[in-house]
Amino acid sequence: MDYRERAKLNQDKSIRIKHMAFAVKSVDNALLNFQSLLSVSEKTEKVIWEKAETKVAIFYINDIEFQLCESLNKDGRFTNWIEKYGEGLHHICYEVDDIKKSIDHAKKHNAKLRICEACNVYGSHAHPEGFVAFLDDEVAGTEIEFMQVYSENELKKYNITGI
Ligand SMILES: [Zn+2]
Repeated sequence: MDYRERAKLNQDKSIRIKHMAFAVKSVDNALLNFQSLLSVSEKTEKVIWEKAETKVAIFYINDIEFQLCESLNKDGRFTNWIEKYGEGLHHICYEVDDIKKSIDHAKKHNAKLRICEACNVYGSHAHPEGFVAFLDDEVAGTEIEFMQVYSENELKKYNITGI
């Protein structure tokens, strides 16, 4: 068995990639690059997330969701990131089975929670697709988001009354 096979055996399958988000100066330009270099769909839509003041393009590459994110205000999360590091991979959202367990594990290793700028909340809280939390710690220069995707019942509840 070689190191790649051993690495595969050692993985924790309760963590999966939900999405990868890139901080970009212009969603229009970045999307054109993905379309011309990586055959990303011409039908890819651009949306505005009002609460987060962010323009986003979302597409999938082999079932992994990519988000291209452009802050619409000068002091936005992605503008600040680009000023510090330049354009690039901003965060990976890790889909986990149990968000409390994942947060507790990280906290045991001195991780701190980061505020959700859209909701003004620290720690696990309800978003449209599931419970999310942000860490104030980075891995390999990339921010960490956790998401526990809603069960069918939780999603119904969220869409009717919020959670
Ligand atoms: Zn939030």
